This record gives sequence, C-alpha cells and structure tokens, in this order.
Amino acid sequence: MVLELRPNCEFCDRDLPAASTLARICAYECTFCADCVETQLHNVCPNCGGGFAPRPIRPAREWRPGLSLAKRPASTNRVHLSYDLENIAAHAARIKDIPPEER
Ligand SMILES: [Zn+2]
Ligand SMILES: [Zn+2]
Repeated sequence: MVLELRPNCEFCDRDLPAASTLARICAYECTFCADCVETQLHNVCPNCGGGFAPRPIRPAREWRPGLSLAKRPASTNRVHLSYDLENIAAHAARIKDIPPEER
C-alpha cells in the first residue's frame, strides 16, 4: 500500500504536483489545497468528515532501493467533488467546531 498522490484539489481543481507544499489530505487520501481547506472546508473533509494534514512529499531521488517518485509515481486521475457546494457547506457547519480527534 502506497499513499495515492492525487494530482489536483478536489474543490478548486488547481494542480497539486507531488512536490507541492500546498497539498492537504485526510485519512482516506481525499486531497485538497491549503486554501480550500482553510476558507471553504474549515478543516472538514467533505467526503469523510475528518480533518486534514499536509501531504508528505515523496522523495524524487531514490535514497533507498525502489523508493522514489520515479519508482512509485503520482496518480494522474483527477478527482472531483462528490457533493454540491450547499451540501458541503452544511456538512462543514455541523462538524467544524468538533476537533478532528473527537469526531
Ligand atoms: Zn483548492
Ligand atoms: Zn476524507
């Protein structure tokens, strides 16, 4: 099992290349940009309700055999929202004040 490095923000569709420091993920690898997490999602994943953390950056160089971005490339499948904006806003409103560790 390898973390799926998704290529875009599911909310605004901006590119999030593997080396991006703006990528945020939830525990299910739902992927968004830092701006959307803060201003649109309020640290509530629209899919699972969990919080977000910075996505780790997979090393480009093969420091150890078989482990690098070249050996385990990022996904090219763009992912898009599964819910409409009104639904996502309501979902965030009812969850955002509960800390992720208590959700
Ligand atoms: Zn975004
Ligand atoms: Zn999620």
